[in-house]
Amino acid sequence: MTANLLDFDLDGLAAFCDQLGEKRFRATQLFRWIHQRGESNFDQMTDLAKSLREKLKVHAHVQGLSVLSRHDSADGTIKWLFNVGDGNAVEAVFIPEDDRGTLCISSQAGCAVGCRFCSTGHQGFSRNLSTGEIVAQLWYAEHFLRRHLNTPDRVISNVVMMGMGEPLQNYSALVPALKTMLDDHGYGLSRRRVTVSTSGVVPMMERLSQDCPVALAVSLHAPNDPLRDNLVPLNRKYPIAELLAACNQYLEFAPRDFITFEYCMLDGVNDTPEHAQQLVQLVRQHATGKGVWCKFNLIPFNPFPASGLLRSPTPRVQAFAKILLDAGIVTTVRKTRGDDIDAACGQLAGDVRDRTRVAERIAQQRTIVLKPVTDLTANNKEA
Ligand code: SF4
Repeated sequence: MTANLLDFDLDGLAAFCDQLGEKRFRATQLFRWIHQRGESNFDQMTDLAKSLREKLKVHAHVQGLSVLSRHDSADGTIKWLFNVGDGNAVEAVFIPEDDRGTLCISSQAGCAVGCRFCSTGHQGFSRNLSTGEIVAQLWYAEHFLRRHLNTPDRVISNVVMMGMGEPLQNYSALVPALKTMLDDHGYGLSRRRVTVSTSGVVPMMERLSQDCPVALAVSLHAPNDPLRDNLVPLNRKYPIAELLAACNQYLEFAPRDFITFEYCMLDGVNDTPEHAQQLVQLVRQHATGKGVWCKFNLIPFNPFPASGLLRSPTPRVQAFAKILLDAGIVTTVRKTRGDDIDAACGQLAGDVRDRTRVAERIAQQRTIVLKPVTDLTANNKEA
């Protein structure tokens, strides 16, 4: 079996070239051909020695992902569904804005965390993506967009790992992919413009701060443990106090001086003024070492039938944001993009087959485990 060169960051490619008896600068040339020029045909890499090209044809290939579908939204958002084999597919979404082009990509086929408000979580976990499959989403989208927009210039300026999957549960594939995004010979993205979003895998946050510190977003979604246990099951393993401590540790190495907390606004579940005040208390304890420097990104929920949840009304989102803003916390409300193509946050399940029937299991559990909102509030008061 030959090696897929999309699986390598530059160090990995240099090690591969070394095995072929080639020097590191050859790996750099090859890396630039693949990532900067989007080339997969070794015969087209004309400044590589013919002998190297012949070796590469025997020992290597550059294999992206095949596109199952593409949907273009009226607002310019583009969603691709990529085939990753065995009935699995993952999605990537390009979101153009005036001053940036952001690509949201996936790290796993499905997700094992099972957040209640997330359609990917309801789909269940199929498998981790390889480094090559993570990078291939960027590789394809960047070069497609250059052709589509007829420009030789870079189109994608920001990458967010907020598609399908929990990136920190696929750590060994994630880190080389991030390094390829950051590498000046690859995509040359700034650390501040590459964001890993996690539901709070605390030990891996610490490792990421050492191995490849990029911007960090944390899916918080609740101001107290009883409610977060319910919405983000991983909280039972890594409760909020541990999570905030990990955020503070991360900030010592992060390219930004704040963590972005994602907060999905769920009607009647986590969107009351009391919840907002609890959040303020939580993050304001920074002076005591228990809080954290942060900004909040409030996300209007995109309802899907299996969730049994509804989007918070806009006035309630605004009132919630005002409490945070009045407390001096930077707060934004995410604009929904690509609604007409189901590309908005939490809608990235696409037509992927549910291989684990986890949605059914979650639905069964929900009737037993979930408590009414009033009970959750009561729990919190007791806590
Ligand atoms: S929100 Fe993220 S971590 Fe939670 S189930 Fe969805 S993909 Fe997984």
